[in-house]
Amino acid sequence: MKDIATILTAESLSKEDIVTLLKVNGHDEQLIFQKAAEIKEKNVQNKVYFRGLIEFSNLCRKNCLYCGIRKENKYLLRYTLNDEEIIEAAKFAYENHYGSVVLQSGELTGRSFVNRVSRLLQKINRMSGGRLRITLSCGEQSYETYRKWFENGAVRYLLRIETSNPVLYARIHPDDNIHRYNTRLKCLESLKKAGYQVGTGVMIGLPDQTFEDMADDLLFIRQIDADMVGMGPYIEHKHTPLYSYRNRLYNRNERLKISLKMIALLRILMKDINIAATTALQAIDPFGREKAIMAGANVIMPNITPAKYREYYLLYEDKPCTDEESINCLQCLQIRISTTGNQIAFDDWGDSVHYVRRCKETAGLKLH
Ligand code: SAH
Ligand code: SF4
Repeated sequence: MKDIATILTAESLSKEDIVTLLKVNGHDEQLIFQKAAEIKEKNVQNKVYFRGLIEFSNLCRKNCLYCGIRKENKYLLRYTLNDEEIIEAAKFAYENHYGSVVLQSGELTGRSFVNRVSRLLQKINRMSGGRLRITLSCGEQSYETYRKWFENGAVRYLLRIETSNPVLYARIHPDDNIHRYNTRLKCLESLKKAGYQVGTGVMIGLPDQTFEDMADDLLFIRQIDADMVGMGPYIEHKHTPLYSYRNRLYNRNERLKISLKMIALLRILMKDINIAATTALQAIDPFGREKAIMAGANVIMPNITPAKYREYYLLYEDKPCTDEESINCLQCLQIRISTTGNQIAFDDWGDSVHYVRRCKETAGLKLH
């Protein structure tokens, strides 16, 4: 077998190489993190961008088998923030110099939801004079809806593929027309066509997910040429069907370790994209996000949802910061990030360098 240092000097990593790298520990693992840190510094600098996360509704029409806010979870109080609460949260982000906000919700469709999101986009843009970048994460929608939201001022969209293995995807979703792998793929294509900076990602450590699946996940992300990625450990939730598979999981610390290696390998594979240090990492390890930043991530999504709603947006158990006011989260994060040798890029949109390059290349092609 090739040694790890040799694999890491290669021009590109094969699936086999990635599988080998995902399995290493100790000194070899440190070599991967070092390489990812070097690549990060060279291509996107040692900066961390903040995206204030507003979880504006936990209503969802879907029943993903892993998710705590799935429609059939009857133990959950459902909420939707009103416009004033959303604008107030966005104002907090703006006044505290975050470059961007993310509006996330369960998946809802229908004209009134689509129009409401458009209206919110306009209001946030008006409030900030267009100086806040807005990301949406509201699930699967038609091309026309994506386009409408783009025209109303959203510039980025997060839609995780969850797993690139269609068989595993089918196993973690109900078998019906609103939970199809191919629809998810089509949505990712529509988002790109509509002009967004496109973000995707996966859950790591799902029941029966193999290292080969995870290597394929990274190659999938590269193949669709994502601009941004958010991926983190799968964490079980009591009130979901997937909970009954909890004995077939890697233990939580192993899931964290694999997730950090996935982040580092993704940075090696895609040097100039934005990679989030996701909150699920912190649910396992209080310093999970800081470790991710040192392994190649460059985005953090501080939760700025009004504190009283946070306990109802429990996608998974042990979600951190559910009782914190946004201002405390900010102070806590500033201290935490200073320990990683990175700087918080306040007042900076932090657009994906990859996206900017992608646009320039497309423009170049059109000129010829
Ligand atoms: N409804 C939208 C956005 C909200 S869910 C959507 O599904 O795209 C956001 C993400 O939470 C999902 O993409 C999923 O990857 C993650 N998630 C849900 N349940 C989870 C769990 N049990 N463990 C880890 N991540 C989970
Ligand atoms: Fe709804 Fe998203 Fe959870 Fe699926 S993952 S149940 S679409 S909130």
